Amino acid sequence: MADDCIFCRIAAGKIPAHVVYQDESACAFLDVNPLVAGHTLLIPAKHYERLEDIPSEEAARYLANLPRIIATVTHVMDAEGATVAWNDGPVAGQEVPHVHAHIVPRHAKDGVGPIHSLFSGRARLPPEETERIADRMSRALRPRLR
Ligand code: 5GP
Ligand code: ZN
Repeated sequence: MADDCIFCRIAAGKIPAHVVYQDESACAFLDVNPLVAGHTLLIPAKHYERLEDIPSEEAARYLANLPRIIATVTHVMDAEGATVAWNDGPVAGQEVPHVHAHIVPRHAKDGVGPIHSLFSGRARLPPEETERIADRMSRALRPRLR
């Protein structure tokens, strides 16, 4: 636990929050400043700043909770779906440096777009550039796939 981390302190019961689920791997609680009613955060129990910092097996245990949390949030809020997102790193808007998934209930006619609407344009890449990117990624990932 990081003593100066607000989400570690919530998971430890040291500061109040509406915790809706907790086990050894994860904790889910209502966002104090919700985008819409039912906006829920799901954090790994242990303090990690970025998703990529979480060892795979711990990440699997953390993420194993996600489908059930999404199903419950949408059911309880009578929503038709949810936008689920991590702001991964300050450049992406992460303000609290403890990994957290936002689960935001979505309703028909809520007037909010998809995550794609965050970006005004589209990257129009020449095919060889796409090829180069895919090649670099698959080379970097290959040892993990064995
Ligand atoms: P971020 O911008 O880091 O992805 O999102 C942080 C989220 O945490 C925000 O939606 C914010 O409202 C929420 N938040 C920040 N401090 C607290 C807190 O003390 N308690 C709860 N329940 N949520 C918090
Ligand atoms: Zn923390």
